[in-house]
Amino acid sequence: MKDSTKCLHAGYTPGNAEPRVLPIVQSTTFKYNTTQDIADLFDLKTATFFYSRLGNPTCDAVEKKIAALEGGVGAMLTSSGQAATLTAILTIAKAGDEILCSSTVYGGTFNLMAVTFKRMGINVIFFDQQNETDEQIEAKINEKTKAIFGETIANPALTVFDIERFANIAHKHEIPLIVDNTFATPILCKPFDFGADIVVHSTTKYMDGHAVQVGGVVVDSGKFDWAKSSKFPEFVTPDDSYHGLVYTTTFGKAAFIVKARVQIMRDLGVSQSPQAAFYINLGLETLPLRIKQHSINGKKLAEHLKNHPKIEKVIYPGLEDSEYKALADKYLLDGYTAGVLSLVIKGGREGGARFIDNVKMASQEVHVADIRTCLLHPATATHRQLSDAQLADCGISPGLVRLSVGLEDIDDIIADIDQALEHV
Ligand SMILES: *Cc1c(COP(=O)(O)O)cnc(C)c1O
Repeated sequence: MKDSTKCLHAGYTPGNAEPRVLPIVQSTTFKYNTTQDIADLFDLKTATFFYSRLGNPTCDAVEKKIAALEGGVGAMLTSSGQAATLTAILTIAKAGDEILCSSTVYGGTFNLMAVTFKRMGINVIFFDQQNETDEQIEAKINEKTKAIFGETIANPALTVFDIERFANIAHKHEIPLIVDNTFATPILCKPFDFGADIVVHSTTKYMDGHAVQVGGVVVDSGKFDWAKSSKFPEFVTPDDSYHGLVYTTTFGKAAFIVKARVQIMRDLGVSQSPQAAFYINLGLETLPLRIKQHSINGKKLAEHLKNHPKIEKVIYPGLEDSEYKALADKYLLDGYTAGVLSLVIKGGREGGARFIDNVKMASQEVHVADIRTCLLHPATATHRQLSDAQLADCGISPGLVRLSVGLEDIDDIIADIDQALEHV
């Protein structure tokens, strides 16, 4: 199946006279015939459902759809994008370990990495994906380093991650590359095709698309050899909480995603509800149409604003003269680069505020990837916890406005933005 077909049909195939639309299985619990049936479940000998924190038929169908879209061996839905990153990292790292993370990641991810993981004893080292050489980045890797992490299209820096380059660096040191593919979605980029080992998403963004449901997902490529690397003893030695089961021996290529579920999800409980999965599935059904139109509108708006007298700079990886154009062409489908733009408004902090305070149709929202056009001023919102130096490290200047282009008619979007810019 091609992607548009997968979006409609993967993960759920109704039998005779069963619901055509994926049903919401609103049940925390499931029924068994014998004590042996239940014993087999707890020994992980059968892959049926036992409790909705660990798996649910509605969630399972959506997990299969997303795994099919990314080309992975399995996926696990989580309560949010933050929970996806949290569970992905905790499946492979513990106190005393280190993670190497691109400095231009989403503000929430940056806080999780720089503050909360540090408190948990996982030390996160940041690197400059654009300006540091391979040698400089490799110098930050040691025997404690467990993964490299970056975003396909960073929110809101809009840098494009050179997946192949960082996959090569990671594999040279026998560690996996984790890619946050939220902005690109598997329609525009399939990180596994370029060597990534694990993908995470905030499904809250384009996958849902309608701004109705917070959610996340972790996807396993099945390609990383956890047994070959000497860095992941937890994958190849018995897990006492499952009668000494060994993940790589029992689950083979799915070792990572099973461990994420039966160990980390079991203990942290950051699961997605079946109702949430239903909403995300509705979004996924039209994702290919929407993400392409967001990209078309985004490019038209970026081109229109590029030479606008009130704008210092338009950052959009789809622009011909963008420093990321070559990477965008390599990694993203047909030059589509989604609908998020960063605009540096003249007049700095005040100019940015004047601009967004005067939009009429578009709205100020702490969100992106909505079907409705929305804007945000990161320096006073998502990134307000960061110092000026950290802001600069994330590629954000004080006058920067993040604009997420919706699916309204592009003429109406341009008219609204133009009239708001007259107030700057
Ligand atoms: C929003 C976002 C997240 C966090 O996801 P939530 O669903 O808000 O928890 C992570 N990564 C990226 C790139 C995002 O845009």
